[in-house]
Parts: sequence; structure tokens; C-alpha cells
Amino acid sequence: MDMAEMVLVGEDERQIADLLEMFLRAEGYRTERGRTGKEILQLWRSAQPDAILLDLMLPELDGLSVLRQIRAESSVPILIVTARVEDIDRLIGLELGADDYILKPFNPREVVARVRAVLRRVRGWSPPPTWTAGPFRVDEQAMQAYCGDRAVLLTPVQFRLFSCMVRSAGKAFHRSELLDLFEEDAPDARTIDAHIKNLRARLGQEGRRIETVRGVGYRLNPS
Ligand code: CA
Repeated sequence: MDMAEMVLVGEDERQIADLLEMFLRAEGYRTERGRTGKEILQLWRSAQPDAILLDLMLPELDGLSVLRQIRAESSVPILIVTARVEDIDRLIGLELGADDYILKPFNPREVVARVRAVLRRVRGWSPPPTWTAGPFRVDEQAMQAYCGDRAVLLTPVQFRLFSCMVRSAGKAFHRSELLDLFEEDAPDARTIDAHIKNLRARLGQEGRRIETVRGVGYRLNPS
């Protein structure tokens, strides 16, 4: 195996950062710590982490600005950590491209599991074929979605949901089934609807093909 993967812990509260670093190291990750927004940006450039845990309330430069700046240049996995559930809804709405959201107070084991899941997703171990349904096409290996000839830019969560529905077009998925896709890195159950809403928006006119099945969940209608 290559050198251990490195996680940048962007957190100004020392006890929380200590805890995260301790658990991550126990799982074999290398860690770096940034205490301010500026420090996190510097470390991101110099240390080239494989993933970033990013607190939102940070001195100097807040986490949202850090997220924006990094996303303008890089697709490194970013997991947002926040104490406010409203932040999560707002961030999902803004579609800034965070890969996951963790609510404080958290269980450090859960955080490590989410980091592991995101890194595994990025490494992309199983390269299955291309799937099509109606105007949609999904290339799992490239993690690329298409609507007709148009490439559609999706977040990792959106891509996973979309890919699953394209593969089983016509099937009504329970919300719980969609959550099951994520194993231990499942998004909050309440956020599935928001992810679907954003996914529809990304698909433009064809987004209406993702139909709501009342009392159940969602279905992709290919015809
Ligand atoms: Ca903080």
C-alpha cells in the first residue's frame, strides 16, 4: 500500500480537533490540523490532503469561504462539520459541492467511517459498465452522467442516487432504499428529498422524469 491517506482537520476548537486526529490516526490516516480558515487553505495547498474535514465557524476566514475557494480549483473530498442543522439545509441548497455533512456533537467513529467511505468512493474500486434509461446515461467508471449528449455535473451523492435510479428505471424506490445505497456514509434521512430536488434541477427539463411516488419515495420514468 502507498503512503497512508492524509486528512486535513479544519477545526479551531482544540479538544474537537484532538479527538478527530486521534481517531483518524488510530485508523491509519495521517492528519494535519488547520485552526483558521487561512491556515486551512495554506495546508490544503502545501500538504495536498486526500480529504478535508471542515468546520464552518472558523476565525479569519469562515468555512464557507474556504469551501468555495477550494472547490473553485479542486475536487478533493470535503466533509462539512457544523453544530447547526439549518446550515446543512442551506449548504445543500447552495450546492457548493461538499461531499458530506456531519452534525456536532458527533461520534468520532462515525466521522471516521464517513471519511473512509468518501475516500473509498473517490478511489472508485468497482468499475461496472455504462447504464442507460430514456435520455439518461451513466458512466460509472468516469462517474459521469449524461442527459442526451449533455454531460451533467453532479455531486457524489447526486451521482449515486441518479446512477441507482437509472440502473433500475421504472422501479419505485423507498427513501430507505436510497439511504441504504450509502452504507455507513448515509446522508441524513431528511436530506434525501433535498438531494433529489437538486438532482432534478441539474437535469433541467428531463428532471421531471424523476417522479415522486407518494408515501414511498421516487421513481425514474424513462419513457
Ligand atoms: Ca469552530
